[in-house]
Amino acid sequence: MSMPVSIFDTGLRGPCSRRAVLGAGIATGLVGRASLAAPSDPRWVLPRILPHEARRQDLTRAYLAAHLPKDHPHDPQVVHMTPRAIVLHWTGSSSSNGVWNTFASATLSGRPELQGAGALNVGVPFLVERDGICWRLLPDTRICRHVIGLNHCAIGIENTADGPLGGDSRAPLTRAQVDRNSVLVRLLVERYPTIRWLLGHHEYRKMEATPLFAERDPTYRTTKIDPGAAFMRAVRTQVADLHLQSPALL
Ligand SMILES: [Zn+2]
Repeated sequence: MSMPVSIFDTGLRGPCSRRAVLGAGIATGLVGRASLAAPSDPRWVLPRILPHEARRQDLTRAYLAAHLPKDHPHDPQVVHMTPRAIVLHWTGSSSSNGVWNTFASATLSGRPELQGAGALNVGVPFLVERDGICWRLLPDTRICRHVIGLNHCAIGIENTADGPLGGDSRAPLTRAQVDRNSVLVRLLVERYPTIRWLLGHHEYRKMEATPLFAERDPTYRTTKIDPGAAFMRAVRTQVADLHLQSPALL
């Protein structure tokens, strides 16, 4: 099956070690703050594609079939979305390799609050490290499990961090992540003009007031604190000209 063309796809495939990718990036000047100066260069998002593609797609179809309301217009057999929203997250940990390894499995493990709602593992298309390095894990519009009620229409961006911007945790969100998330949001909105919402994961319950929210089980909800109000305020300031809607204003 052909994949949608992405402005971020590099043509490279397969998981790679951080050392190997960074080495290639440094050699060609693509990694680090310098690449922030040229966000139009698609190569500033580095490939580190998650494995188990066929199994992940099967489990995604099963998840959609179980969670979308029966009369919902999205066909649960379709694992790509028309994106309407972007949801920002933090990973809750300081290790990007650890996050990648967690996402690498197609099946969920160790999340008792989510286990009853399906075997599909959590995941997102993008992971941004604390120094701003951005990894592609899956195609832009692949439906992933990252936010209850909005997976069928929201692109997720994870940020390696264990606490809020300006916080005193061991590995808080950084200004470099604010910058990269802002550029990524801008590029995604340019590529997919159907995106009209930008929210933090901690704001997702407010989206229940919108027609976008679709979850068959009214008891399947979680309480989230990531990525926090300070991070969202900083990103929204940088992309204010895009006039994206915010659930904070609902
Ligand atoms: Zn989250």
